[in-house]
Amino acid sequence: MSAGTRGPGAGSGEALHRLSIRQLAEGLRARRFSSRELAQHFLQRIEAHDKTLNSFVTVTAERALAQAAAADARLAQGAGGPLTGIPIAQKDIFCTQGVKTSCGSRMLDSYVAPYDATIVRKLHAEAGAVMLGKCNMDEFAMGSSNETSWYGPVRNPWDLERVPGGSSGGSVAAVAAGLAPAATATDTGGSIRQPAALTGLTGIKPTYGRVSRYGMVAFASSLDQAGVVAHSAEDAAYVLQAMAGFDPLDSTSVDRPVDDYCAALDRPIEGLRIGLPKEYFAEGLDPACRAAIETAIGQFERLGARICEIRLPHAPLSVPTYYVVAPAEASSNLARYDGVRYGHRADGARTLEELYKKSRGEGFGAEVQRRIMIGTYVLSHGYYDAYYLKAQKVRRLIYDDFKRAFETVDLVVGPTAQNVAFKLGDKLDDPVAMYLNDIYTIAANLAGIPALSIPCGFVNGLPVGLQLMGNFFDEARLLNAAHQYQLATDWHLRRPHGFE
Ligand code: GLN
Repeated sequence: MSAGTRGPGAGSGEALHRLSIRQLAEGLRARRFSSRELAQHFLQRIEAHDKTLNSFVTVTAERALAQAAAADARLAQGAGGPLTGIPIAQKDIFCTQGVKTSCGSRMLDSYVAPYDATIVRKLHAEAGAVMLGKCNMDEFAMGSSNETSWYGPVRNPWDLERVPGGSSGGSVAAVAAGLAPAATATDTGGSIRQPAALTGLTGIKPTYGRVSRYGMVAFASSLDQAGVVAHSAEDAAYVLQAMAGFDPLDSTSVDRPVDDYCAALDRPIEGLRIGLPKEYFAEGLDPACRAAIETAIGQFERLGARICEIRLPHAPLSVPTYYVVAPAEASSNLARYDGVRYGHRADGARTLEELYKKSRGEGFGAEVQRRIMIGTYVLSHGYYDAYYLKAQKVRRLIYDDFKRAFETVDLVVGPTAQNVAFKLGDKLDDPVAMYLNDIYTIAANLAGIPALSIPCGFVNGLPVGLQLMGNFFDEARLLNAAHQYQLATDWHLRRPHGFE
């Protein structure tokens, strides 16, 4: 890496990684620092801290400096938008032309996409953001702890013995530790919100169809959605604004104008109707986390929101429903990795069948193989009706619950996770305990609605997340409510010791 020793912060004493995206954009325009200096600052932090955290699979220093130079040229002409020259990290699930896209798997360890994902093109080529690198993740986004990655586990900056959550564990660890101002992430059953909660970040999963999935490696296509992790709702609004929108290359992308997320942030939330589902405060929620969440709900009331109890009677069926639908879709999506067209090819196979078996056996880790087997089973003749069809019916009931709820409330509030971050290795031998991590997040994916997690307190020095779910395409209101909460609180400003 050619980053010089004279960091821009060195002279002024300014900690660039403590600034919000808006402050960074203002600093760039006022020429207090250049995009090149910004990129160097974050690349230096990655070099200093990522051996410990393992949050990046690939660091793209040269590309970052080249993109930063282009951004500086654009800014010098008075051109560019709010993200021009701002460094961000990409989850390694998004295809990046000329840079490896591993999806956390040995299967794709040497895969270099011949094209950019739509959101990569939008963020970098169009909005002018600078790509620092590709973030570690659970293999094919299957996991809640980032321990299924072929590249090894990621550590939580708040406690290095603990997991950062998953599957977007690299994205959140990088942002929480100040190695990138924001990062992209994806959420099939909670992989943006749960890791955001476990690392004290704000993470938003938009409505299904709001952000293009083109060039995003598929896990469960009817649930997968791309979003952002950042320190605040305001930062997330800037990044999401540049990602969202119709894409003719994704047939599930919705052709509907994108709201102005940043403009909506400042609206007062007086009179906002927030629903409290009884089902989200039942057995299983850690009492200390519950207390933090209840205090946060009190804060929303002080801001003028009206809290009322609602029912989501089918919410407790989310986890079993998801663990039929998601593996079914995964088994179909992952059939393409056959050792012939894509990814890892085993040596020494003598027949085509042996080539398939060996390549898939070597290329996929245990969790991915487990999902493929479950998915193939529930789709097979004789079991399809009993499992897959049944799950689809329950999915509809979960969707109907939310439809009904949003007739009387604007947002739904609840915990993001049952607990704070757990220790590395703690749940590795118990897949069901691991699956239960997403008990509060999965329903939003099954229904297709947007949802976010914001930090709302600490238990034993570890962050607690509060979840807000919104009606279809109501991202602006979610970000607005989160921003108003963050104007009144400072949880989102705390930084982990050793990474200040
Ligand atoms: N933890 C869930 C799973 O393993 C969700 C993952 C995700 O959202 N990508 O499937």
